[in-house]
Amino acid sequence: MPYNELLAAFNWEIIGYSSEERPILNTTLGSGSRSICMWAGMHGNETTGVFMLLSLIDLYARKKIDLTAFSIHIIPVINPDAYVRFTRRNGLSIDLNRDFRAFQTIESAKLVGWIKMNSPELCFNLHDQRSIFHVNDEPAYTSFLVPSSDETRALTPSRRALMNRVGNALSSLQVPLDGIGRYSDEFYPTAVGDYLMAQGIPNVLFESGVSVDDFDRMKARLFGLNAMFALLHADDEPSAVYDSLPQIKEGLLEWVFTGVLYARMRVDIAVKRVYYVNGHAQGMYYMVDELGDLASRPRMKETDGVAMALSAPLIIGQPITAVLGSVVFENGLIVG
Ligand SMILES: [Zn+2]
Repeated sequence: MPYNELLAAFNWEIIGYSSEERPILNTTLGSGSRSICMWAGMHGNETTGVFMLLSLIDLYARKKIDLTAFSIHIIPVINPDAYVRFTRRNGLSIDLNRDFRAFQTIESAKLVGWIKMNSPELCFNLHDQRSIFHVNDEPAYTSFLVPSSDETRALTPSRRALMNRVGNALSSLQVPLDGIGRYSDEFYPTAVGDYLMAQGIPNVLFESGVSVDDFDRMKARLFGLNAMFALLHADDEPSAVYDSLPQIKEGLLEWVFTGVLYARMRVDIAVKRVYYVNGHAQGMYYMVDELGDLASRPRMKETDGVAMALSAPLIIGQPITAVLGSVVFENGLIVG
């Protein structure tokens, strides 16, 4: 959704302006005593969380959910300059999620001020993860992290309690947790979640990812929304469910053509989708992702390429132009 449409979609409060003077929006659902903060769009090309928050607002407006006990504070897009460009970094090319020690950007300083002002019992930090992440060779469509608060990754009582709360929330959903992972808890002192934990402010990172034939991340969107509700109501009685989630791993390939004849070699060719926004135009193309012996890498989709042959060299990172059997790529688009 374009930012000007998002601006007009709801009666937002403006709590400040980005470095390029775009309004930073906020709303509060409910007026209960339990304060919760949620934000998305810290990386402008990660929009699943934005949709999750808009869905939450919509459900509340239509009286489909009861939030009586809560005051839910929402910033749908904390980095609007990146959102309008569909990029990670803000208008001055700073990654906000590496600025939570120095607080030099307007946006990171604004976010922390807003969180502290609202004294939340819990925060949700909504991001999207790259499609390379997998659990047990399947795409990780959602992963969670209760961040570390120091380099030793100590299990402090408050961190343990929050892990329990996440575990109890996941149990209460009563769905299989295949495809759900745990994000690495390596300590990043400049990331918002780690900073907040060190400040004693409990927060959960949601990373929404793709699943097979779901590059719009709809499955993650729905699951994430349900997990958010469950987390609001879950208690922190001991639970091992969070601990039992597999840690996500990198290396998942999207689409591999195996054993293609290429300059007198037999190679596997991996392609992946790249999404972009150019002005008001949105698009997607396939780029050459990897080339060589890829047998040890998990993949979402595989096509036997033994009967295929390529004469022109491919360039990693570039839109693919190649005839791979019945699939004809031209400048990254499938044309036949
Ligand atoms: Zn992110």
